[in-house]
Amino acid sequence: MSNRRSRITTDIDLSRDGKQTGFLRLPHSVHRSAYGYIAIPIVAIRNGNGPRVLLTAGNHGDEYEGQVVLTKLVRAIETEAVSGQIIILPMLNFPAAQAGMRTSPIDEGNLNRTFPGDPDGRPTAMIAHYVESVLMPEVDVAIDLHSGGSSLIYTPGTLARHHTDKKRLKTVLGMIRAFGAPNSYLMGIGAEDRSILAGAERAGIIAMSAELGGAGMVTRETLGITERGVVNVLRHVGVLAGKAEPRSTRVLEVIRSEHYVYSGDAGLFEPHAELGDNAKKGQLAGLVHFPDTPWREPTPVHFSGNGLVVCKRVPARVERGDCVYHLASDLSV
Ligand SMILES: [Zn+2]
Repeated sequence: MSNRRSRITTDIDLSRDGKQTGFLRLPHSVHRSAYGYIAIPIVAIRNGNGPRVLLTAGNHGDEYEGQVVLTKLVRAIETEAVSGQIIILPMLNFPAAQAGMRTSPIDEGNLNRTFPGDPDGRPTAMIAHYVESVLMPEVDVAIDLHSGGSSLIYTPGTLARHHTDKKRLKTVLGMIRAFGAPNSYLMGIGAEDRSILAGAERAGIIAMSAELGGAGMVTRETLGITERGVVNVLRHVGVLAGKAEPRSTRVLEVIRSEHYVYSGDAGLFEPHAELGDNAKKGQLAGLVHFPDTPWREPTPVHFSGNGLVVCKRVPARVERGDCVYHLASDLSV
């Protein structure tokens, strides 16, 4: 982690009680605005001492479930119902979220592949650095909401790192059970070390994420799961008044090398499996067709492990190296 200071400032005071709304100011000197800044909305609701929670969405700009629900919660949560502090950023990578894109149109940055970031880097790196080095040391818990975005759709589930530290895993499992999404995905070996969850681990705080739907849309069902889940975790942690209502969730493990399925060719993908199917190693996952040379035999794609189909590519058009499915398998914890 860098010892250099962030250049991002904010017009709200995190140490003050009450509901404060405002912006992070990310200096951005460009042709049309020499002394300009990028304004990233931030809300802090504080009421005395207690657990401190960071809620973020729009880490990937084309994932809307979290952005909608955090926007609703900003307006719904009254200061009196809080014990401690809730910090909310619904459009964390603001340029990406404003453009409805996974990555920032300013610097092509994928925020969730940029941690721990760089205070002197491009805007996406500056945001990552601010979150890991400035915001995370101020909180005990971080919840970052994702979904499949434009290119994928998920069976809604929470997401966490499969920590080797048993005590930490137990705390995280308590939170994902409180969230109560239909599925819970634990990332095992090969989990990204440039993600916000990896940053939280470095910062020594408890963190969870979620994959709540996707396909560049929101539904009543996914928004309902998201809102209920976030409110329940806030209650479970003790920062929000009210009783957490336990729900069941299926805890699954994702192993990148076995569970991810890729297209080996460019063309049009004909899926042979749907979300919720049980796939077996070697089973046909789909066929890549070549309408530009329609007499050519399609290229088969096979599953490389056993598991439940929890994520599926949305666009039919594929390039070689596009992920078309990923699986997850039951975990006994
Ligand atoms: Zn995402």
